[in-house]
Amino acid sequence: MSQGTVHVVGAGLAGLSAAVRLVQGGRRVVVYDAAKQAGGRCRSYHDATLGLTIDNGNHLLLSGNRGALDFAELVGGRGALTEAAEARFDFADLRSGERWTLRPNAGRLPWWIFVPARRVPGSRARDYLGPVGILRARPDATIAQAMACAGPLYRRLWEPVLLAALNTEVPGASAALAAAILRETLGAGGEACRPVIATGGLSAAFVEPALAFLKGRGASVRLGTRVRSIERDGDRATGLVLADGPVEIGPDDAVIVAVPAPVAAELLPGTSVPDEHRGIVNAHFRVLPPAGFPPLLGIIGGTAEWLFAYPDRLSVTISAGDRLFETGREEIAGRVWAEVATLTGLPADPMPAWQIVKEKRATFAATPANAAKRPRPRTRWANVALAGDWTDTGLPATIEGAIRSGSVAATVLQSSNGGGPPFVTKA
Ligand SMILES: Cc1cc2nc3c(=O)[nH]c(=O)nc-3n(C[C@H](O)[C@H](O)[C@H](O)COP(=O)(O)OP(=O)(O)OC[C@H]3O[C@@H](n4cnc5c(N)ncnc54)[C@H](O)[C@@H]3O)c2cc1C
Repeated sequence: MSQGTVHVVGAGLAGLSAAVRLVQGGRRVVVYDAAKQAGGRCRSYHDATLGLTIDNGNHLLLSGNRGALDFAELVGGRGALTEAAEARFDFADLRSGERWTLRPNAGRLPWWIFVPARRVPGSRARDYLGPVGILRARPDATIAQAMACAGPLYRRLWEPVLLAALNTEVPGASAALAAAILRETLGAGGEACRPVIATGGLSAAFVEPALAFLKGRGASVRLGTRVRSIERDGDRATGLVLADGPVEIGPDDAVIVAVPAPVAAELLPGTSVPDEHRGIVNAHFRVLPPAGFPPLLGIIGGTAEWLFAYPDRLSVTISAGDRLFETGREEIAGRVWAEVATLTGLPADPMPAWQIVKEKRATFAATPANAAKRPRPRTRWANVALAGDWTDTGLPATIEGAIRSGSVAATVLQSSNGGGPPFVTKA
């Protein structure tokens, strides 16, 4: 039975999830992250301009994201997540001024599509069958090949929802990845679609409690420690090269590489990784939301796409936001604030303190060609496994995918090392 140390490279959610699963199984674990802060693309930070602690980007989870919610529960971060009592999605159309609330019923049988007050105005029950083609599509099909990307329901429901889930322009995105999302959310009924928002912050929900969980069980976490290369001999990894010297990987030791895709390709040459990415732009405004304003509002016909109302700020998400990378931050803030002021009734002038965060490589592009490059967690090196939202999880780049991938990588290592303590999924 192997009792060596597992070296986890990367303390994003994939690496943290792998490390947590491993310490649960009694393994010695060392986690390395190049950054001074853990959490990777899912973290909170103090923003001096706003004078607030905010998240690098608004993250939406759904109650069907069992891997993510179980992880938060296990490490003790569940209290920082606010889960809605029902599946309820408020929308506003900036062009027409219409507002509506989408309210799927809790069960799997979707009777809500027959109730006009629960669906998109002007839509008919049969319009909701549009995505059936996605569920039946070939693995390499785009969404445009599987369903009609036009019409009012597409513009008011399928496009905003799929754009947010895939972070890729919808017509050219992978039908298979869209199908995976639809099966685990709307297909599983409203009970799986209740919005979950990290009102207490992403770090408080996922990162800080995971670090405390690891340290409390003897794991070592080395932040500000970049792994420069991984030495390999035959079918095994034999060492890590850090700035302050080498770390030997002994015969019983193993490595989980949980870094972003381009870094994984450098550390493990020859590994196939998705190499096209999409950005996300977030606009944060230091202003109290009006009383009774919905925690989440889908916006049709604007630059802003989703408006999150936190107790101390309003924050907007713009997916596949690459088109805005050349636009000045002040211009984006002004444009988005004008829309937010219209939607909330808050004064357009003066604009409150604001911050624009552009994450250039927020996720891999969820196109069929790019997704086909996602590798399995097992590598050609017997003691090396891969984790990350970009590995072949079957899901788009999401918290859920990242957390599941870490757990799978931990399991893969246990089995390829010829045993090890059993993999435990619950404390
Ligand atoms: C703005 C934004 C909004 C998002 N919105 C949502 C959402 O609404 N819902 C959702 O589910 N998902 C969302 N996502 C996606 C989600 O954040 C990611 O899928 C998830 O955080 C990826 O985790 P990861 O561990 O796979 O990768 P990462 O978070 O990228 O972690 C990799 C880690 O490796 C470290 N690293 C890199 N190189 C080295 C090295 N050489 N040595 C050591 N460490 C290294 C990095 O510092 C990093 O901490 C969003 C992402 C962004 C950026």
